[in-house]
This record gives sequence, structure tokens and C-alpha cells, in this order.
Amino acid sequence: MLLHTPSLMLVNIAVTATLGLSLAAVASRTRRDGLTFWAWAMATHTLSYTLLSLRGQISDVVSMVVGTGLLSATMALFTEGLYQFQRRRPTRGLVWSPVVLLVVAMSFLMEDPKARVVLSALILLVQSVVILVLLIQKHQDTVGRGQYFEMAGFAILILIFVFRIVGAFATSTDLSSITASNQMQTGTFLLSTIALVLICLGLVVMTKERADAQNLDMALHDALTGLSNRRLIVETLTQHLAQAQRSGRALTLLMIDIDFFKRVNDTFGHQSGDRALRGLADCIRGRLRAQDMAGRWGGEEFLVVLPDTDAQGAVTLAEQLRRTVEQARFEATDGRTMQFTISIGLHTLPASAAESIDDMVAAADKAMYMAKQNGRNRVESL
Ligand code: GH3
Ligand code: MG
Ligand code: MG
Repeated sequence: MLLHTPSLMLVNIAVTATLGLSLAAVASRTRRDGLTFWAWAMATHTLSYTLLSLRGQISDVVSMVVGTGLLSATMALFTEGLYQFQRRRPTRGLVWSPVVLLVVAMSFLMEDPKARVVLSALILLVQSVVILVLLIQKHQDTVGRGQYFEMAGFAILILIFVFRIVGAFATSTDLSSITASNQMQTGTFLLSTIALVLICLGLVVMTKERADAQNLDMALHDALTGLSNRRLIVETLTQHLAQAQRSGRALTLLMIDIDFFKRVNDTFGHQSGDRALRGLADCIRGRLRAQDMAGRWGGEEFLVVLPDTDAQGAVTLAEQLRRTVEQARFEATDGRTMQFTISIGLHTLPASAAESIDDMVAAADKAMYMAKQNGRNRVESL
């Protein structure tokens, strides 16, 4: 079955125009997730195919030189959008130089159809490979599966350009007659429509997956200190408790409370109090090992979960932390120096004990109150 190239081009134009308008409708300047660039990319692609399909009806320079130049601009816009999504700064000169090179070279090759086909496919191939490499380089840092749609889309584009280069040398088909209904042209337009749908869908999925991840992060972390919030602490503690009870390995909890924190707020103001809380969170973070977990349990109370840590090891760590905070100086909003101490309650899960999370937290809390009663700025175990 031989498909009809002008019809396929028309379908491609309709699809990219729809994709472009849809992306523009959901793009946002403030989110800076690449969608605006990709909406423009669809606009240049639509215009490019419109000019290419009008071959013979409009001037060759506009149809071929401008049309192919716009296709290369589409790739440059994809690259810009991807850089923006990845929060990286593109080297503008490098991103846009293929477009200039293509337009200039095409203008000189008006009389050489084969060279035109090969050169344009080669430049577009290089641009697609660059995008695929950018996607692969950052794939570990990109959440979700949307990125694989992108990779598939650009891999298809790469295939198309390779086939066109090979086809120009290996077959007698005249690829420069863009609207001719031969297998190379119909294949090009059918596959490029599929690739563009995958590419746009992929980006929308990528932005959605990133927004989901950010929302989840916000739902599980404390906005002031960035530490885990109560919900995440309970979730993590549940897992560690089950594991410790199964394996018989030690599990320790630290309940940390700032001494006389009301005075800090009264002397330096509530905003400086917030700074002090952030400062304490940094001290805690700095002391922990990778498997430990710290969270904000309440106002100025922090809970630290120490898996595989017996009472002796935990006391050493808690003492180090207590001393670090005692020696630390924090800057108030008016430039004055703030200083405070902490009381730490420590509870280690006794071997094969059938304690619940509530039992463990209550014991750590009780130990912390003992530290308060015994003079503050100290560690007590229970
Ligand atoms: P103690 O040594 O007995 O713990 O004395 P304290 O003054 O720290 O007493 P308490 O723990 O009862 O006081 C907690 C204070 O922490 C009360 C509240 O004003 C302050 N606080 C709680 N959450 C925040 C917060 O998010 N920001 C600020 N700036 N202060 C907070
Ligand atoms: Mg307190
Ligand atoms: Mg308190």
C-alpha cells in the first residue's frame, strides 16, 4: 500500500498545530518547565511543513530554505525547552548555530537536490542526537517515565534522518521532491507524526510527574526546616520498628527539645526564633549518618530515628549533638547573636521487645522531660 504524501503532511500539520495550541494553553511563564518553548517548537514545525507542502506553489527559496530552516529551529526550541526543564543554561550560540548553518548552506545548494537532502538530514540528525544525549545524561535526575516517551520520539527522528541520508545515496528515489508519494517520503511523514506526538506527550507527562513529586515532597517535609514532618517520621519509624523487631537489631529514638525557647522568641522575635529552628535542623543534619532520619515532631521538638544503633552509640551521638548546639552561634534578624541549648531524651528498643511506635515515642519524650527536670542541656536515657 502506498500512502499519499500530501495527505500525510496535512495530518502532520493538523496534529502539530493541535499539540502546539494545547501546550500553549497549559504552559506557564512562572513554572519554567520548558512547555512554552515546546509550544513554539510545534508552531515552527507546523509552519515548516506548511511551507514544505506548498512546494511548487510558492517560491522555492521560501518553501525549501525557510521551510527546512524552521524545522531546524524546531529542534533548537526543543533543546532550549529541555535545558529549561532540566534547570540548566543552554549555550545559545551552540543551540542556534545549526539553524543558521542550515539556512546559509541551503541557499547555496539550491541547484543540488541530493546535497540539500543529505545536508539538511545531517544537521537535523546532529540536533536530534544532542537532545537524546541531554535526555540520557539527566535521566537519573528526572523523575518518572515520561522521559522514555521523549527518548523514543527522538530515537524515531534519528532513524528517519539516518534513512534519508542512506536513501539519498543508496536509492534512485529523488528525495528532494518532498511531496512525491514514494516510500521514503510517506515513511518520513508518518513516523515524524508519531515521534512528535510521543515527544509532546512525554514532556507533559514529565512536568506532571515532577509536580507530583514536588507535592509529595511538600506533604512529607516540614516547610521551615526541610526535615521530615510527623507523617514521614511515623511512616519511616513503622518500617524500622518492624525491621528491628524481626532482626533483633537495635533501634534508638532521640527526642530533642530546645531549652527555654520561649525566651529566644521573646528576646529576638519570632522570626529569629524560626532562624534558630533552622539552625538547629542544620546541626542535626550535620551529625547524622546516611541511614539515620531526623524530623520535626512539633513546634521546637525534633525526633531522630537511629536504626542499628544501641544505647551506648546513641548516647555518644546525642552528647556530640548537645555539645555542637551548645557551642553554636546563630544570627538573629537584627544581627545579634543567639545561643541556646537542647535537652535530649533517648530511648533504645530493648531486644525482642513488643513496643509500639507510641510506646517508643512516649519513652523518648519521658526521658526528655527527665533531662529538663535534671537541669536541661543534658542527655537522659530511658
Ligand atoms: P523548656 O526548656 O521547658 O522546653 O522551655 P521552653 O520555653 O522551650 O518551653 P516550651 O517547650 O513549652 O516552649 C515552646 C515554645 O516554642 C513555644 C512557642 O512560642 C515556640 N515555638 C513553637 N513553634 C515555633 C515556631 O515554629 N517558630 C517559633 N519562632 N517558635 C515556635
Ligand atoms: Mg522547649
Ligand atoms: Mg517543647
